[in-house]
Formats: sequence, C-alpha cells, structure tokens
Amino acid sequence: MKEIILLKLGEIVLKGLNRRSFEQKLLNNVKHRLSAIGSFKAYCLQSIIYVEPIDENADMDLAFEALGKVFGIIKMSRAAECAKDKDAIVALAKTYLKDAMESAKSFKVESKRSDKSFPMTSIELSQYVGGELAEAFPNTEVDVHDPELTVTVEVRDIAAYVHAAPVQGAGGMPVGSNGVAVSLLSGGIDSPVSTYMIARRGVRLIPVHFFSFPYTSEQAKEKVIELAGLLTAYCGKMSIEVVPFTHIQEEIRDKCPEEYFTLIMRRFMMRIAERIAKDNGAKAIVTGENLGQVASQTMEAMASTQSVINMPVLQPLIGMDKEEIITIARRIGTFETSILPYEDCCTVFTPRHPKTHPKLSEVAAAEAAMDVDALVEEALAGVERIAVDEKSI
Ligand code: ATP
Ligand code: MG
Repeated sequence: MKEIILLKLGEIVLKGLNRRSFEQKLLNNVKHRLSAIGSFKAYCLQSIIYVEPIDENADMDLAFEALGKVFGIIKMSRAAECAKDKDAIVALAKTYLKDAMESAKSFKVESKRSDKSFPMTSIELSQYVGGELAEAFPNTEVDVHDPELTVTVEVRDIAAYVHAAPVQGAGGMPVGSNGVAVSLLSGGIDSPVSTYMIARRGVRLIPVHFFSFPYTSEQAKEKVIELAGLLTAYCGKMSIEVVPFTHIQEEIRDKCPEEYFTLIMRRFMMRIAERIAKDNGAKAIVTGENLGQVASQTMEAMASTQSVINMPVLQPLIGMDKEEIITIARRIGTFETSILPYEDCCTVFTPRHPKTHPKLSEVAAAEAAMDVDALVEEALAGVERIAVDEKSI
C-alpha cells in the first residue's frame, strides 16, 4: 500500500492575487524541510499540497512530524493510494481506516472527483463506499450531518486516495511571505516564544544576541545557539548575530547613574538591533517583552527604549500571562533549554533600585557622558555571525 501526505493550506488561500506566490513559498518551505528527511515529491493542486515518498528512505512518520511545524498549513492527513475502482477503494478504506472506523460512533463519506471520466458521480461513489463500510463496521452508523469521522475519497488523475481524521497543522503563514525582522534572543523563556510567534506570521527572522563575556559565559552563548537551533524547525534556516556587549555594559557601569543601568543598556540593544536590521533588509525588531513583568517593561520604560529607533518593535507576548508563555514554550520544545541556569547580560550590573517610570529627558541625561555612536560602531564591528544547525523536528 502506498501512503502519501496531504497538506491543506491555511490563511494564504485568502490572499487573492498573491495566492500563487504564497503557495510557491509554502511549497518551497515544505520541500526544503523534506530534503533533510529523505526523497519525497511535493506538488500543489487546488490549494492542497501532496507529498509522496519516492523511495524506501522516505520516512513518512518523520515527514509528518516535521511538516507539522511548517507554517501556512492548517490541516494535514495521511492518505493511502489505490486503483481508480470502486471496489478497490472500499477494500482500501476497510483496511487503512480500520481503527478509526471501529472507534467512531458515526461517519460519513465525502468524495471528490477531479477525474471526470470516472464512471460514478461523487454522490454515487460516497453512497456506495458508505454503504459498504456501514456493512463492514456494524459498530458505527452513517450520519451525514454531524459525523464523528469523515472518510474522504479522492479520485484524481493517476490514482484514488482514501483518508480520514486530519490533524491540525502549525497554522500561520509561510515563513518568507511577510518580510524579514530581527529578533532579540536572550537565553530566557520569553524570547524563543516571541520569535516563534512572529515567524508564524510569515516573517523570516534574524536572531540577535548580546553577549557580555566574561560576565556571561560561553555556555550562555551555546545555550542561545541551541535555542535558535530548536527554532529552525519552525523558522527555517537561520544565522545568529552575536554582538559583543561587554564594553558597553562596563561604560554604562562607569559613567551612568545606577538606577538607569538597565534602561540605558536596552537603548543600546535597540540601536544596534536597528542597524543590524537595516543592513539585512529587516523592517522590525521582535522582543519578548511583557507588560509589567520587570522594571524595564513598564510603559514608560518601553517608551524610553523605543524612542532611540525608528522601526516598529513587535512584542507578541505583551499581554500574555507567564503561564500562557510557558505553555507555548513547552509545546514548541524550547522550555527545557530556556531554564538551564546560565546568566544573561540583563542580569549583569543590575541596579538595586531600577527606575520604573523614567522620563525620556532623564534617561537621555543619564547617558550623556557616553559616546553612544562610537560604542554602537565598535559593537557592530565585532558582531560574529554563527550559522545555526538546522533541525527538521
Ligand atoms: P527572556 O525570557 O526572553 O529573557 P525576560 O523576561 O528575561 O525575557 P528581559 O531580560 O528584560 O526580559 O528582556 C526583554 C527582552 O529583551 C527579551 O525577551 C529579549 O527579546 C531581549 N533581550 C534580553 N536580553 C537579551 C540578550 N542578551 N540578547 C538579545 N536580546 C535580549
Ligand atoms: Mg532575559
């Protein structure tokens, strides 16, 4: 029996004229993801992507799992193939869907017929297959209005397919269909989730990490690279930009009033991130900020950090509870790595009494003793780009 995977396109089908380019992006992302798993053929017909194994090296379980992380797919199912013959279809449905049929209380059959030379109409075929299945599985009955299980039969150009019980896909839009942004990636719980959420909206992301060696250790950097690696299963290929941040933090410690340390540090992060964004065609900065979570995430503090740049700051976690963020972190597989106990540059030289409601003019005055431009240039000159090992699962 030959099995294939069917992927139903999500929101992109609403995109009218852009639909073709969205479909093409998604198909390319699907092919790229599959290339790491084995030899598969993938093509798109009427807003469904068909994935077929080419040889025995094509592991269907792995492919199904990996494709479950590709954004732009709303539903996915595995289907079995047979000859275009009504009794071959019934025989296949009886074996391939045995477990599902035995556990469902009610079912219906839906047929699609793109091969118009097939000798039955869709309705006739559904009735025939439905009748045969009802006889073979007396535990269940036909319910065309609200069935527990929908058996789908498709009669296409070269073969017929039978499938049922689709599972949810990753949703969202295909990565690359909605521009590029930089994402500030710390080693914490929040920023991998914010990166995932913006990637899900179709944005290709460039992770940026601020690294304060030796105040933060090599392991802290490795942890962030590991997190970026986990995210590639969703975001696709990425390189992480590691910014040397030690000198800036020491200058802040030496020249600025303590209560402003974190705010000034975050202003530097924004300035540098904006420059990296501009150099790479990115149009926004993503952060894992969350209203009120820490002193630097009050409205006044965020106004102060955002006032030094001219780019939108996307904060997908801004209104979420920590528990909700953790639930997503667990689901996408970043949580266990995020909680490894390595320090972040945000915890270096933290003020004992941080300013929580700063005025813009006060923050500007507090950093006046520093040569901001020179420090930004120096940090940019030392950026290290690290290609992240891509994962499919
Ligand atoms: P996280 O769990 O993501 O570390 P957090 O709650 O600890 O978030 P902060 O440390 O205040 O919050 O940081 C807020 C956001 O700033 C982070 O979500 C991240 O986007 C960014 N950020 C913080 N530290 C770094 C860093 N060292 N490199 C890159 N971005 C950072
Ligand atoms: Mg942090």
